[in-house]
Amino acid sequence: MEIYSGQMGRLIEQLGKLPGIGPKSAQRLAFHIINMPEDQVQHLADTIVSARKKIRYCSKCWNLSDEELCPVCRNPRRDTKTIMVVETPRDLAAYEKTQKYEGVYHVLHGAISPMLGIGPSDIRLKELMVRLQDEDVEEVIIATNNTLEGETTAMYISKLIKPTGIRVTRIASGVPVGGDLEYIDEVTLLRALDGRTEL
Ligand code: ZN
Repeated sequence: MEIYSGQMGRLIEQLGKLPGIGPKSAQRLAFHIINMPEDQVQHLADTIVSARKKIRYCSKCWNLSDEELCPVCRNPRRDTKTIMVVETPRDLAAYEKTQKYEGVYHVLHGAISPMLGIGPSDIRLKELMVRLQDEDVEEVIIATNNTLEGETTAMYISKLIKPTGIRVTRIASGVPVGGDLEYIDEVTLLRALDGRTEL
């Protein structure tokens, strides 16, 4: 079964551990890498190690960041009275690409899933509630995915925030069921944002 041994085998094995990379892709990438100039391979490896070491979470919104605050939170032109709650930094990136949303974000890093044993304390929900206490927020837009977990999370957050008097809205469900936000085109995202409803 093992065609490659030693270094090549290990390289294919490591690449195959990445998401979306099956055995064939891993083999293709491995051959590509060993045919690359050595300095380019070094640069790739250095970039990976450096990114892993230096990238951390924004202390305010939990987006990925090189510094204490992410570029969105550092930008003085952003409307800090509107917070959009998303599941992952990839969802945040999808909305940022539209260049139409002017508020700030809060990244939960997951969604509540009783089936998988992920409860409210396993996502960055407490941090959101602290922000709502400390900051002057007028609206929380819940943009979790249109999945069972995303809906459960939206309902949970809405119940938590309602008593504070802060407006809570949910993006319109023009988003395909089960579809991750990052795969949805910008027009659909903007329509979902514009058509948001009160919770
Ligand atoms: Zn931030």
